[in-house]
Parts: sequence; C-alpha cells; structure tokens
Amino acid sequence: MVDPVSDQPAGPDGMGIYIALGSNLGDREATIHAALRDLEEKVDIRVVRCSTLHETEPVGGPAGQGPYLNAVAQLDTGLSPRELLARLLEIERRHGRRRDVPNGPRTLDLDLLLFGGRVIDEDGLTVPHPRMWQRPFVMQPLEEICDAVTLAEQRRGR
Ligand code: ADP
Ligand code: MG
Repeated sequence: MVDPVSDQPAGPDGMGIYIALGSNLGDREATIHAALRDLEEKVDIRVVRCSTLHETEPVGGPAGQGPYLNAVAQLDTGLSPRELLARLLEIERRHGRRRDVPNGPRTLDLDLLLFGGRVIDEDGLTVPHPRMWQRPFVMQPLEEICDAVTLAEQRRGR
C-alpha cells in the first residue's frame, strides 16, 4: 500500500515548511514566544526563522473580541505533515485552546500553511491551508520571510 502524501516527510530540496501562529486572549506575545519554544522542545523540529508580530482585527466570530497578534514561522523538520499537525494541535491544547465557539477568541491558533510544495487534501488536513491566500493576517507576515517566487509557485500548484 502506498502511504498517503501526508505521511511522508519533506525531501531535502523542498520549498520550505511554514506555519501561522495567532493569539487574541491572555498575554498574546508571551504565548506566541512560548509556542515557538515548545515547537523546539524535541529534537525533530527547528524554527528556521520567524516574522515580526502583526496586530490585526479579528475576522468573523462573535463581536467584541480583542485584536490578534499574528506571526508566521519557517520550520525544518523530519516529521511528516500529519505528525507535524498533531504536534501543532498538542501545543494549542497545552496553551488552553478550546473549540467551543467557531472563530471565537483563542489563546493560540497554529495552522500548517505550506509543506515543501506538497498538495494535501485529506480528512482533517489541507495543505496549502485553503484560506491563507485571502487572509492578510497570514500573507503579510508570510511575505516577510518567504520569497515571492516560491509563494507564486505554491499558489499556482494549489
Ligand atoms: P482555523 O484555524 O481555520 O480558524 P481551527 O483552528 O478551529 O480553524 O480548525 C483547525 C482544524 O482544521 C484542525 O483540527 C485540523 O484538523 C483542520 N485542518 C485542516 N487543514 C489544516 C491545516 N493546514 N492546518 C491546521 N489545521 C488544519
Ligand atoms: Mg487553526
């Protein structure tokens, strides 16, 4: 049986692995920095670079929630996309993430944006992240750390 594409680690010449980080509850900056440290707590993920923090207004969800801090980080990892997503969700939970209100306020949101040029469309995992291209709060920090040619290629390959 062939492994699904989400179970295979990135090749050596992949186009880079990028995640989005967001927070609009509690000490947002401290949470994002803690999440970056958490990602590196085991040897199999390295944070290559991280954008600056961008303050943005919430999109959708209940009225009256506070602004977000958003960032994008490039990772280097031998994990597969599935394994990486599981790690992201585990770190969200550790920071008290609850999913009771759709688009509701969250201490921490971690999304897998791009995984070395891979196109994945499976239950519970879509890469490139389907809503990223329309979200300035993702694209602005991403453009700080990912070159325009790579982004255009990823977008075409979608
Ligand atoms: P959003 O981040 O779009 O506001 P949620 O964080 O509430 O939404 O939803 C995350 C769920 O979406 C996860 O449980 C995960 O299974 C699924 N999902 C699918 N593709 C991705 C991806 N590329 N990155 C993160 N989560 C994803
Ligand atoms: Mg999410």
